[in-house]
Amino acid sequence: MPIKLVPLGAGQDVGRSCIIATINNRNVMLDCGTHMGYQDERRFPDFSYITKDGDMNKLIDAVIISHFHLDHCGALPYFTEIIGYNGPIYMTAPTKAVAAILLEDMRKVAVERKGELGFFSSEDIINCMKKVITIDLHQTIDIGKGINVKCYYAGHVLGAAMFQVAVGAASLVYTGDFNMTPDRHLGAAWIDKCKPDVLITESTYATHIRDSKRSRERDFLNKVHECVAKGGKVLIPVFALGRAQELCILVESYWERMGLKVPVYFSAGLTERANEYYKLFIGWTNQKIKETFVDKNMFDMVHIQSFDMDFADEPGPQVLFASPGMLHAGTSLEVFKKWCGDPKNMIIMPGYCVAGTVGARVLAGEKHIQIDKNTRVEVNMSVENLSFSAHADAKGILQLIRMCEPRNVVLVHGDKHKMESLKKRVFQELHLPCFDPPNGGVLNVDTEGPIPVQISRDLTRTVMENAAEKVTQKMKKDHLFSEKDKQPSLNHNITHLPLDDLAELNPICCAPFSGILIPNDGDFPHLVSNNEVYSRLGKAMKSVEFSVRHHINLNKLCKYADIHLSNTKQYCTSLLTMKQNLNTQSGILKLMAAILQSRRLEWNVEFKEEEGYLDIEGIEIKMDGDTLNDIVIKWEDTFTSTADDLQNILDSILQIKS
Ligand SMILES: [Zn+2]
Repeated sequence: MPIKLVPLGAGQDVGRSCIIATINNRNVMLDCGTHMGYQDERRFPDFSYITKDGDMNKLIDAVIISHFHLDHCGALPYFTEIIGYNGPIYMTAPTKAVAAILLEDMRKVAVERKGELGFFSSEDIINCMKKVITIDLHQTIDIGKGINVKCYYAGHVLGAAMFQVAVGAASLVYTGDFNMTPDRHLGAAWIDKCKPDVLITESTYATHIRDSKRSRERDFLNKVHECVAKGGKVLIPVFALGRAQELCILVESYWERMGLKVPVYFSAGLTERANEYYKLFIGWTNQKIKETFVDKNMFDMVHIQSFDMDFADEPGPQVLFASPGMLHAGTSLEVFKKWCGDPKNMIIMPGYCVAGTVGARVLAGEKHIQIDKNTRVEVNMSVENLSFSAHADAKGILQLIRMCEPRNVVLVHGDKHKMESLKKRVFQELHLPCFDPPNGGVLNVDTEGPIPVQISRDLTRTVMENAAEKVTQKMKKDHLFSEKDKQPSLNHNITHLPLDDLAELNPICCAPFSGILIPNDGDFPHLVSNNEVYSRLGKAMKSVEFSVRHHINLNKLCKYADIHLSNTKQYCTSLLTMKQNLNTQSGILKLMAAILQSRRLEWNVEFKEEEGYLDIEGIEIKMDGDTLNDIVIKWEDTFTSTADDLQNILDSILQIKS
């Protein structure tokens, strides 16, 4: 059954991430975010794509939130408290802790400052968070209805996770936002070789190959230093968490090293509280921070102080970190309005900005920006864009694909044109099908792939030896060997004969491996021979013998021989003799041997006169007792396919009744 994906947001776009995945009839919602570029109904995912009547409890089995950024979780209280979804919601503990704060902050800005209607309340946020179940890293949990969820480290921001969702044999991995290079406070994303059917990956920086981390840091510090040295003010809009911590650590140590006295501020409230969370969830940060935390608290800054809006009007240079990162509201936007007219000042945009935000217009180089009905500003300050955002670039995305080896790749959370070029790279470099469904588009991804197995050496040897033996027999029969070359070399050493030659001589070389499949905990199943199973069990091999008795009609046997053997060169002369000898058991068996040989030339039919039976590929046919009317066919369980063929031939051609 294919995996069905419908993006309700973030399809060929950045913002309001929300993807509905259907795996083996189970529906999971991956993220439930807001779009920062809109103030109308487009700020939330479009749930009407999946249901018109709005009963989400019948439809959605679970919601999984990748991290606390609002474009991934901002619509969650709307989905649970206003739309009415009542089922389970999964996220990591840091995501749960920080999301609650960011949601409340967003609500305040939207409702109290902008007067937006139809928004959720503080109480809605609290009630929504009560429904959240936390999940730990590398923990696989069975969330019911056959759905298994596993969580991997994603870097990006504190608590960010990638999720593997499996239902039966089908599985997908959803990356959320991730970062493949460690930074000053977080590690790099990691996933094991879980080979999902589908990898759904973000592609924010699908076409970027970022220059080295070190040179980006140097560039950033030089720009800040140059600006304040000339008496300018530097505004650095940041997301409340993530880059803020990284950049603060960077500036703090640079100020210390250079002995700088210019004041550095961060907008109070969010970041302070955020730092508390970093201390609380220290296990989610990188090794260096974990180690230094014992002696010195990395987040207790000497040079960086809390900001007060009054400081913005003070003369002289200063540096300010303020949220939000996209200048769509809050402190960063207020300060931007004050400082943007002065060419001495500078704004450093460290992240990606969603289309429609003031940040995106600043980045686009617009000189006159209408911020709201009453405010229009002229931008004279210098604008710098340093790609400090903690998203994987194209190289990182390809690296993650190689790490988990998916069968298909789906791109979300990116610009349509950039996705197009990444799609080509995924196809050309990794030979994987790659898709980028738009919002509301339905993508069905085929999951019926081959199941890889490990074949044991013993079974391989047996199959190859049998194949070689059959080729030899065939070659002998076809007179491909001269008389003196009775023992062809491949009988002794199959590796001397090129495989192509073998295949051309006889397609039997492509014979399927048949053996016993044994499940192997967490790895591919093993295909082994019967012998190996017995030796693993410590028991002697037993074989099951089957036998069938048939009545033969000698008249029909003769008639068949007349029709089918009289023209064959080998038998025409001896046919008469054979028919005359049908009054003896060995005479009957000899005639049967000739018929069977003509019917299936690849079979090795041998009449063992002394033992009194016919040997056909290990199957034994002999007369029953002293009669001339009944035969008994015997075979062991390992020869069933030939036995079936033989039965069919006897039934259909010789018309022997059982
Ligand atoms: Zn994010």
